[in-house]
Amino acid sequence: MARIPAYKELINTRLANAYGGWIYCEGCNKTIGYLCYVTYDLFRLNYQCKCGNCGSVHITFEPKSIKPTNSKQSLIQIKNRLCCPEDKSPLTTLLEKNLDSYKYEINCSACNTKYQVD
Ligand SMILES: [Zn+2]
Ligand SMILES: [Zn+2]
Repeated sequence: MARIPAYKELINTRLANAYGGWIYCEGCNKTIGYLCYVTYDLFRLNYQCKCGNCGSVHITFEPKSIKPTNSKQSLIQIKNRLCCPEDKSPLTTLLEKNLDSYKYEINCSACNTKYQVD
């Protein structure tokens, strides 16, 4: 069954599908990353693209009844995906070569853990 986001806001940014897939900068239409569909509960990205455009993505699903644990760990890279270090769930890809700067937070749905990169 398709999940329905509880909150969704895209600024200067396009997403290939309703809540996942390739992430495009609307300034230059280049891909700046990829968001995996089913493994996250919250995704929040703020970035500045190499073209100068500043954009953001904010999508959340209904929160779980138990608050997520904040992790000080970083996501680990497996092949081209950033993955949860606990259960190896693939979460996102950010194409650093197309980005001047970015920060994000993402919750892994499988272990209810929040990762944050500033
Ligand atoms: Zn751009
Ligand atoms: Zn996890």
